[in-house]
Amino acid sequence: MASQIPALPQSFAPGTDSVFSDQSGFYSLDANVPGLSKVILNKLNMTDYGEYRAALEGKAKGIQFQNYKELFQKMEETFKFCTSCNKLPEHLTEGQTLKRCVKCLNVYYCTKDCQKKDWPQHKKVCKMLRLVAVDRLVEWLMFAGDLPISTEKWSKPTAEVRNWDNWLPMQVDLSPRLDTIISGSNMSTLWKNATRPRPDDTDLKESLWRIQSEFLSRVLTVGMAVQQYSLNPYAKPLTIHLAGASHNETMGARLTDFDELNKMFPEHQGIEIVMVGPEVVNSPIMRPPLTAFGPRKRVYISAYKGLYHQFWEDVLEKGKAAKPDLVVGFHPGFHANQGLVEGWLPTLLLLRDYDIPSFFTMYSELELKYSLQILLELEMHIKDSGPNPFASQKPEQVQACPNKTPVYCNSHYIRFQGLLPQEEPVPDL
Ligand SMILES: [Zn+2]
Ligand SMILES: [Zn+2]
Repeated sequence: MASQIPALPQSFAPGTDSVFSDQSGFYSLDANVPGLSKVILNKLNMTDYGEYRAALEGKAKGIQFQNYKELFQKMEETFKFCTSCNKLPEHLTEGQTLKRCVKCLNVYYCTKDCQKKDWPQHKKVCKMLRLVAVDRLVEWLMFAGDLPISTEKWSKPTAEVRNWDNWLPMQVDLSPRLDTIISGSNMSTLWKNATRPRPDDTDLKESLWRIQSEFLSRVLTVGMAVQQYSLNPYAKPLTIHLAGASHNETMGARLTDFDELNKMFPEHQGIEIVMVGPEVVNSPIMRPPLTAFGPRKRVYISAYKGLYHQFWEDVLEKGKAAKPDLVVGFHPGFHANQGLVEGWLPTLLLLRDYDIPSFFTMYSELELKYSLQILLELEMHIKDSGPNPFASQKPEQVQACPNKTPVYCNSHYIRFQGLLPQEEPVPDL
């Protein structure tokens, strides 16, 4: 039996052959701005990629900062390079400094000329990048405990809540709750130490909502997949696997992270969420999956660190986990490079051959297009695909290419199950 967790690379070497999506992310950083991945590791007080992973997993001395000012400064410095010519701070000549665009306070230029040259592209995203930079800081409140805010009971039948516009009016207390965070002590700590002035309260409120929407997007997307497959959580307990779960879903995860499903399906028979992926990091949800029916009216979350097909062989097939009614994958990213496709291939074939209802999300329409191509090559039966009505509202900058159109978590989805049915040959006359 192969080891469940692929070995960590010993030193930082960007590559396209890794099952760790953040390592290939590092690779794409370097492809655009040579040396940027090294800068990020330096700012985080790390020497190589292995240490970065160890820190994400809470094992290493890793990310330790003297104070918040240092934390926010280091974070900001990872964005410091000339957006026009890609020069990093160490490539500047004496007396030269990188200067920020005064409008977005997000991108840098080495000279006025570089800025001028870049403006035709940058002006299309400058406004949006201002929001991105604010969100990047406000997101810290997720780790400080102010977010996510609790939500209210659903006042409408689940079938009538099809998008954010249907969901939001049910949250009558949302605004005062956001106000409490805005006047809270974490918020003032943040802006006392941040690398930009405090935005006004309206801006902050919108930013808090965008970050909350990213968190909720995951739960509501899972609920939507349950409905689209006509799975009935009132008839029997449901087991849902999140294949390829990463640090995005598991860092600082709480046992209550999917409780919105209790509001979506009140009085359900029990919903189990198992997060499985090589990038799963330690948190209270790191516990074995259920083998018997879960507690009614409750969502039970557990996590397993390893590739999904290995989890299937080592845990599920040995009777230590229930077979899934649904498998969801948030941004599997297998369109990005060969290594990721190879990492995902056994899982994709397993999902296909066991005829598992599957639902994967993507960051953009382009990613959707490439992912569809790969799934079609595997002769998957695509049931449906398109924009996700519960996409995250928080724009995300493509770090090494700030002028690229920002992307959104769960912005698109593909629903697929089993093998593509063979065309019946036309019978002879
Ligand atoms: Zn430049
Ligand atoms: Zn700008």
